[in-house]
Amino acid sequence: MSVFTEQQKLTILEDLVAINSVNENEIEVAEYLKKLFAEYGIDSTIVPVTETRVNLVAEIGSGSPVFGISGHMDVVSPGDVSNWSTDPFVLTEKDGKLYGRGANDMKSGLAALAIAMIELKESNSLTKGSVRFMATTGEEVGGAGSKKLYEEGYMDDVDALIVAEPSQDVIVYSHKGSLNFKVTSKGQEAHSAMPHLGYNAIDPLAEFITRVNAEVRDPSRSNETLGELIMNCTIVQGGQQVNSIPEVAAAEFNVRTIPEYDTEEVIAKFNEIAEEINKQKDAKIHVEVTMALPSVFTDGKSELVEIAQDLGEKYFGEKPGTIGSPGVTDGSNFLRSKGDEFPFMMFGPGLTKMAHKIDEYVHKDVYLKFIDLYKEMILAFNQ
Ligand SMILES: [Zn+2]
Repeated sequence: MSVFTEQQKLTILEDLVAINSVNENEIEVAEYLKKLFAEYGIDSTIVPVTETRVNLVAEIGSGSPVFGISGHMDVVSPGDVSNWSTDPFVLTEKDGKLYGRGANDMKSGLAALAIAMIELKESNSLTKGSVRFMATTGEEVGGAGSKKLYEEGYMDDVDALIVAEPSQDVIVYSHKGSLNFKVTSKGQEAHSAMPHLGYNAIDPLAEFITRVNAEVRDPSRSNETLGELIMNCTIVQGGQQVNSIPEVAAAEFNVRTIPEYDTEEVIAKFNEIAEEINKQKDAKIHVEVTMALPSVFTDGKSELVEIAQDLGEKYFGEKPGTIGSPGVTDGSNFLRSKGDEFPFMMFGPGLTKMAHKIDEYVHKDVYLKFIDLYKEMILAFNQ
């Protein structure tokens, strides 16, 4: 049963794209969805994360199994708007494609989940268990929203989770973690002709980078699905002037972790190397963790993955494959206490490779079909 006409489904997506939620302002998206849910008698709760940023949680049905559905409300910056062929905040249809910032990542997924939930409620077709909709803030910048929901216990009784990130062609059931460091070295400024009067902050930092590159990477360890840990120094800053001994230097690192080589172990290694270098006279290296999202590993053998593959074939004519991915999702926070067998997947309208691009789009029919696919998937699981 369809509660909404095709035009109404498109209007909801259009309204969501029109709300500029570039790394902020998710509250307007949350309020829009809260109002939409309320029109169909679904209560929802705004869960504050900071003074200005919020999550939204809504639920239908009662008891278990609890089917978790989730999407983030923020989008990444459109960059230079003049590079876009259309206004990024006006959903524009061309040749069966819907263009706009978030059309792909991931307001189409978010809208499809919300609409699916309303239609399940209106048709009274959910006869067992419940569906918990969790819209998050700040996914693109560290996952503060999903962390908050996890900490407040919203995941405790959840039996399966779908994150509707763009991945229409392939089901992602595991992904790496992401860990950021800022490493600062303090020295003492001096004229470069009299370096003994100061201490060059770059020297110990250069040694630190060399050692981390050599000692943190470990090709002997890898995950069956996710492969090896990846580690890179991505930013280096230091010095003001060519004839001055620099007082401060800093380097940033991004690490993509795997369960066999996790966040804690990498942090310990960074600290250990810093401590050893700091034994040298005057070296002062400080390691700061600026983001830590754990990896998500599930075995991908759940009934939910099978249901999703069958539905993918039914709706799109081709059985979607399954993979582990190097990218992170809110699953990093949501699945902190779940085991390998937990039915998790990232599966949603749009293409993974299209995320964060200029002129991002989703195929109109894919967006519309995912609404029905989600309804069927939830009903097949909650039996
Ligand atoms: Zn996304």
